[in-house]
Amino acid sequence: MQSVRRSSSLIQQAKLLPRVSWARSVWTGQEGIQEDDPEIYSIIQKEKFRQANGLELIASENFASRAVLEALGSCLNNKYSEGYPGARYYGGNENIDVIERLCQSRALEAFRLDPARWGVNVQPYSGSPANFAAFTALLEPHDRIMGLDLPDGGHLTHGFMTDTKRVSATSKYFESMPYRLNPQTGRIDYDKLFETARLFRPRVIIAGTTAYSRLLDYKAFRQICDEVKAHMLADMAHISGLVAADVIPSPFEYADVVTSTTHKTLRGPRSGLIFYRKGVKSVDKKTGKEILYDYDKTVNGAVFPALQGGPHQHQVAGVAVALKQAMQPEYRVYQQQVLKNAKVMSQALVDRGYSVVSGGTDNHLVLIDLKPKGTDGARVERVLELCFITVNKNTCAGDKSAMIPGGLRLGAPALTTRGFKESDFEQVVALLDKGVQLTLEAQKTTKTLREFKAFVLEDDETQKKIAALKEEVQNFAKTFSMPGFDSR
Ligand SMILES: *Cc1c(COP(=O)(O)O)cnc(C)c1O
Repeated sequence: MQSVRRSSSLIQQAKLLPRVSWARSVWTGQEGIQEDDPEIYSIIQKEKFRQANGLELIASENFASRAVLEALGSCLNNKYSEGYPGARYYGGNENIDVIERLCQSRALEAFRLDPARWGVNVQPYSGSPANFAAFTALLEPHDRIMGLDLPDGGHLTHGFMTDTKRVSATSKYFESMPYRLNPQTGRIDYDKLFETARLFRPRVIIAGTTAYSRLLDYKAFRQICDEVKAHMLADMAHISGLVAADVIPSPFEYADVVTSTTHKTLRGPRSGLIFYRKGVKSVDKKTGKEILYDYDKTVNGAVFPALQGGPHQHQVAGVAVALKQAMQPEYRVYQQQVLKNAKVMSQALVDRGYSVVSGGTDNHLVLIDLKPKGTDGARVERVLELCFITVNKNTCAGDKSAMIPGGLRLGAPALTTRGFKESDFEQVVALLDKGVQLTLEAQKTTKTLREFKAFVLEDDETQKKIAALKEEVQNFAKTFSMPGFDSR
């Protein structure tokens, strides 16, 4: 409300000012944002406060370094460079070509890939566009795909649809069949996947997850893909930082194409990558002729010109910076700490009586089912948000509603970047648990989610408890370092 009132008064003030002719005014563009746009500036300051004084537990988020943010805020934003290094549709790309080539070679090096066997496209704007480009490269319209169902921990872009709606474009333009978890174990049901794949005969099977705390059996995916002659697409969006640091298994031994985001565990700018096999695929037994992979043509052609226009070279530079960081010894220590912290978080939750899906974690995240506690992800997310603990509600296998799902997804990467260690994560769980108790108290007198949300803002007793927990959270969070920017 405040900002709305403020902006309208700014407009009124502007009307009273004499009109400045743009032609005659000398516009330098040299004003900083604080001067040039105080309204946006003040919101950014508030967001800095929120990030520095809160507990960030969203599993897909991280804090990028100052160097990465500087690349993002650089003059590279200004340049058009449609095409690829050495073959652009615009002049003036001599520096951009060096940046993009450097990003490509660092990407291969960071994942220990032989440039004779693997290529990489660093232009996708983010993870979802990277996936759509990969599908565009591998499939014709209406070809079949199989991915982990979204309620079971898969991503929207893996073909998500419901009984009544084709939600993701990947389910509109391609025919999608999900595979699921075994509800007893909370792990991917590979037998069922195999059985379904033999019936459905997909062209692509996606090995990748968004809310799954276990490692993937890439070898099993490969065997199933070979059996049904499907391309194996690994989507390592969530785990690419762990893969780069070599602390969990890599999909590259088995996959044909690998997509990733760069802003999750990898800790770079928001962007996307597509890796693809190249070189000799096989040798024809009769003729002795070498058969080559053609992914370099199909993948690069899918990103540009099929789907995208000018690449975001400020992002590409930021990705290059992040990839360099990912090859340093400290980065491995960081990712090892992410794994330790996630394990401690999972155990502390079990100790407090929470139901952890699959019983634990092998990666950076923990999924808890709040239904046995008598509440849900939506209510808890809201209360925690008011207390400066940021989490996201998540479906657990079998949940019907994505708006009021039973689960909560918690990740260790962001707080580990701020220097949180095992004992700090025990403290985080203690604070989170207070938020859940507060939710259970507050939900007694209301029925619907909407009533609940209104109640927590109106009820004096609840407001007092929220204020107390929020203060405790802020006093704890602000003692940790904040990489990337000055937090004050
Ligand atoms: C996050 C994620 C994506 C999409 O990334 P965006 O950058 O949000 O578009 C794709 N696949 C998986 C598995 C993800 O977790």
